Amino acid sequence: MATTGNLFVVSAPSGAGKTTLVNMLLERDPQVRLSVSCTTRAPRAGEQNGREYNFVDIAAFAAMRERGDFLEWAEVHGNFYGTSREWLAGQLNAGHDVLLEIDWQGARQVRRIFPDAVTIFILPPSLAELERRLRGRGQDADDVIQSRIAAALGEMRHVGEFDFAIMNNDLQVALADLAAVARSARLRMASQRACQPELFRFLELKD
Ligand code: 5GP
Repeated sequence: MATTGNLFVVSAPSGAGKTTLVNMLLERDPQVRLSVSCTTRAPRAGEQNGREYNFVDIAAFAAMRERGDFLEWAEVHGNFYGTSREWLAGQLNAGHDVLLEIDWQGARQVRRIFPDAVTIFILPPSLAELERRLRGRGQDADDVIQSRIAAALGEMRHVGEFDFAIMNNDLQVALADLAAVARSARLRMASQRACQPELFRFLELKD
């Protein structure tokens, strides 16, 4: 699929601070648009339909999947998640950069379809810190926390499939790192060529 916008894929285990980091990037970089996924999981307190996710039931998700509406989809922690194919293609074709906040399974599917996608994995500073963050979320039972840690480790084992790894030790440093990745992606030749077609056509004329 020929596109003009850059596609960024950001994955992380829960507790790595991915959503905070992504929201900070979106705030300072209006060129990047966030894809809102469909999910069958129930909304959490404070989440709004159409903002964090499009919340749908399993039957609706299955119907969309059968129709081929999803560019990628995956089951994560017993819920289904999917990225809208049509919205994404529209944004990229209009020259916008798009960021997908999806898990490693989705990243794998996206990489196959868009080999030029820039994939980024956010890591917590250490396993001890990750455990502290996952524990700090509430008064969950120990077995719940243990299974969360196991799930986080399972996600992190896929770090090597990504183009970039960012350690979220200090939020401001991690944000600068993420912004640097976005900026350098825009300087890639294919991206510059798409932004300045006439100049490049002229410069690349063969004698
Ligand atoms: P949560 O339910 O905590 O918001 O997200 C759980 C996991 O699902 C996270 O790793 C998140 O990145 C991932 N996720 C969210 N949307 C999508 C999607 O559209 N596709 C895939 N593959 N994963 C997603």
